[in-house]
Amino acid sequence: MNGFVSFVGAGPGDIGLITEKGIRCIEKADVILYDRLVNPRLLRYANGNCEFIYCGKLPNRHVMRQEMINVALVEYALKGLRVVRLKGGDPSVFGRVGEEAEAVKEANINYEIVPGVTSSIAAASYAGFPVTHREYSTSFTVRTGHYCNNNANYNREKDEHGDTIAYYMGVKNLPHHCEHLIKEGLSPETKVAVIEWATTGKQRTVVGTLSTITNIVKDKNIQNPAMTLIGDVVSLREKLSWFDKKALFGKRILIAKVTSEDSELEKYLLGLGSEAYAFPTLKKEIKPLSIEDIEKVVKAEKLIITVPESVDILIDSLFVYGYDVRDLPRLIGCLTEKTLRTLQSSGIRGTLVTELEEGMVVIGSQYGKQSPHHPVSIVTHCLVRDVRFTEVETRLIEENHWETIIFPNRASVHTFIKEAKAIGLPLETLKFAYIGNSVKAYAEQHGFTEVDNEVQEELNKWLNNNRKLKKNKRNIIQEFSN
Ligand code: SAH
Repeated sequence: MNGFVSFVGAGPGDIGLITEKGIRCIEKADVILYDRLVNPRLLRYANGNCEFIYCGKLPNRHVMRQEMINVALVEYALKGLRVVRLKGGDPSVFGRVGEEAEAVKEANINYEIVPGVTSSIAAASYAGFPVTHREYSTSFTVRTGHYCNNNANYNREKDEHGDTIAYYMGVKNLPHHCEHLIKEGLSPETKVAVIEWATTGKQRTVVGTLSTITNIVKDKNIQNPAMTLIGDVVSLREKLSWFDKKALFGKRILIAKVTSEDSELEKYLLGLGSEAYAFPTLKKEIKPLSIEDIEKVVKAEKLIITVPESVDILIDSLFVYGYDVRDLPRLIGCLTEKTLRTLQSSGIRGTLVTELEEGMVVIGSQYGKQSPHHPVSIVTHCLVRDVRFTEVETRLIEENHWETIIFPNRASVHTFIKEAKAIGLPLETLKFAYIGNSVKAYAEQHGFTEVDNEVQEELNKWLNNNRKLKKNKRNIIQEFSN
């Protein structure tokens, strides 16, 4: 049985710019071959068994050669697997989808091409100008700024071009392109914008003219990936820029993670223009309860559930041994609001508790050899580092200047220190933010001294909004039940 290959455009960087169809492909994939410019956060849509293969450049290794990629696509598909070839931007714009689809086609494998938002248009939009405009530009040209053996002899002197020109892969040859366009008859005063890491929290934009931009780019050390956009539309940025004005634009924030669930906070902070990353990616290994555990639970005077994920595992395990929720103790305490809500959604009443007392039976998760939260007597699942993300996360941590770490709870301080040390992230320079004063004190005890007030303020707003939302939800439920 032949598999299937989806060539999927991941969009330019902002995770919100992938298509719905692209996400569905990732969810169904058995194996994903992805490039350097793909936002690694998108890989989280994949199922737990999906294999990830990095095709980009590594510090100690060359790029995976194109022929190797073609061979890999065919080999995996011939095993009957669903293969996703995930590419930055749109697969058809300087994305080599032509060569790859041809190889797949020759092997008689079915495929589809899922378009994406290409980086030139996205970079212009996020820098605050459109690529066309009724008064400034009626046409738009995309060019490669990088010549390879196959196109080096192509006679560019005769190229016609639109009012706006985008150069992909153009940073290295920028002086050459500017000179060439002036020779083609463009005014040296023509506006140019170069946008690095467009649509992400790392976005940097510099603006100049055909005669000045080369020096500006050098001065500011603008590097790949960067998009060069040339034309009068660039001048609209002064009036229309919006992304750079977001509350946390440019901030590099890590969020210490102790669950396997998606981080809502990360999404929120990305939405404020920051480069936020919830670290590390953990996966859950379920440990169903034994009959001895179940007996301990049903005989307990008071049961404490520490994390939301334990609720379902507990209920499922009860069923296996012929019990159900009616056999649970009358007194059930939860350590977090989220756990309490999860419990309530299964129709079980609980209370929020802050401290553990002697004699309580505590159910929760384990991270490494210990519980990340409190000493637990019954372990429902272990959290382990999802090794498929080790490579992307190591690169992500190394390539960025992280400024701030957010600790959502005390347990996250431990896990973060351990994992950060393991990949050599310097902790001394990190400021921090926290949820709750006890967490603040705990982080200080562990050597974090400076609170990032800007991030803390946004974090407090988020918490207040969340609380209000939840309160509203409760009111609505009460209204219906009255
Ligand atoms: N298929 C991609 C382009 C691949 S070529 C697309 O449709 O966007 C790689 C080049 O794309 C980079 O050298 C850079 O010029 C550009 N690029 C991709 N992502 C970018 C980003 N986030 N910001 C700026 N330029 C980007």
